[in-house]
Amino acid sequence: MSHSTEKIDLRNLSLSKLKDFMSSFGKERYRTVQILRWLYQKGAHSIDEMTNLSKTFRRELNGVSFISTLDPLHVEQAKDGTKKFLFQLKDANRIESVLIPDKSRLTLCVSSQVGCAFGCRFCLTGKMGWKRDLTISEILNQILAVQRTLKDKVSITNIVLMGMGEPLANYTNTVNAIELMTNPDAFKFSSRRVTLSTVGLLPELERLSKEKISFRLAVSLNAADEEIRSDLMPINRRYPLRKLLEACRNFPLRPRARITFEYVLVEGINDSTQDARKLLRLLRGIPSKINLIPLNEAPGIPFKRPSEETVREFQEILMKGGIIAIVRGSKGAEISAACGQLQGKGPEPGIRNIDFLKQQG
Ligand code: SAH
Ligand code: SF4
Repeated sequence: MSHSTEKIDLRNLSLSKLKDFMSSFGKERYRTVQILRWLYQKGAHSIDEMTNLSKTFRRELNGVSFISTLDPLHVEQAKDGTKKFLFQLKDANRIESVLIPDKSRLTLCVSSQVGCAFGCRFCLTGKMGWKRDLTISEILNQILAVQRTLKDKVSITNIVLMGMGEPLANYTNTVNAIELMTNPDAFKFSSRRVTLSTVGLLPELERLSKEKISFRLAVSLNAADEEIRSDLMPINRRYPLRKLLEACRNFPLRPRARITFEYVLVEGINDSTQDARKLLRLLRGIPSKINLIPLNEAPGIPFKRPSEETVREFQEILMKGGIIAIVRGSKGAEISAACGQLQGKGPEPGIRNIDFLKQQG
């Protein structure tokens, strides 16, 4: 272990790197388990908190490593209970996470990149372009930072990688983060409660199908036709719908598992009854479920949200065709926290209003 270089962030180590790091001290496997629990179950801020490790070992660890954290710069709450957390990273880049209460669930939507390179025309994150990938610790610290603002017995129950960025374009950090989210000694989320959403990067999907991690897969389809999809999502020119669906058909699913297909409904573009029927035909033979997301409008986005009636009609055709189709509300829209509205902007720079959260839980 080199002592001259920068200290290692323990929360930025993949599971296997953490194991290697521990064995570099000649520590037995059990130490890794203890440290995982401190890092992800107890949300430790410092190595000194790890009181079940010997003082000597803590001193050794302190000499070469540290634990990173994130603190929200700003939190906004919508009337529907949705909360948007703005985080400032070490390099002053900003990202957002959104906490969405829904019946018995408390879902946290986390970011995987600063910005996004894919430029889908209905998405504000796409408009800002790609700035950089998030590290493993920047992905995981969003969960810990939000969990810390909650009351004692309240816990985040579900994680969706649907915030800023395309998770599969930050492949390695995303996979390593998911491994820690679902590891029983780390966050221990059930793999059914962690969802990765992707535009469908084919080489990465192929690679992902061979990983030993487990999670729910969501694919942003958004059109049932090559031309319309290419118009909405430039990535369709490189990885066309036909090939994407083939990859989905071959994706290994556990028994009774389904792929979630996201479909943003855009007025006059992809919301006709014909589109709905086409979608039904396309998904035949793929264990699937559809999330219909009526477009969240925003300044600079050249599209409109269809009427409720159009949305209902579209949904009915899918349901009658035997596919579960759920209409996603636009939770958090009034604070720009809904799908496609994250830009890492927040209100005035430097404002902190997290105190009110402590009272509200
Ligand atoms: N990059 C990934 C994950 C983040 S986007 C992906 O695209 O899948 C998460 C979801 O928000 C995607 O399904 C996307 O289609 C949807 N979305 C983007 N902009 C939207 C908007 N303006 N209104 C509604 N949904 C939107
Ligand atoms: Fe990127 Fe997803 Fe937005 Fe498309 S919808 S620009 S892939 S974040």
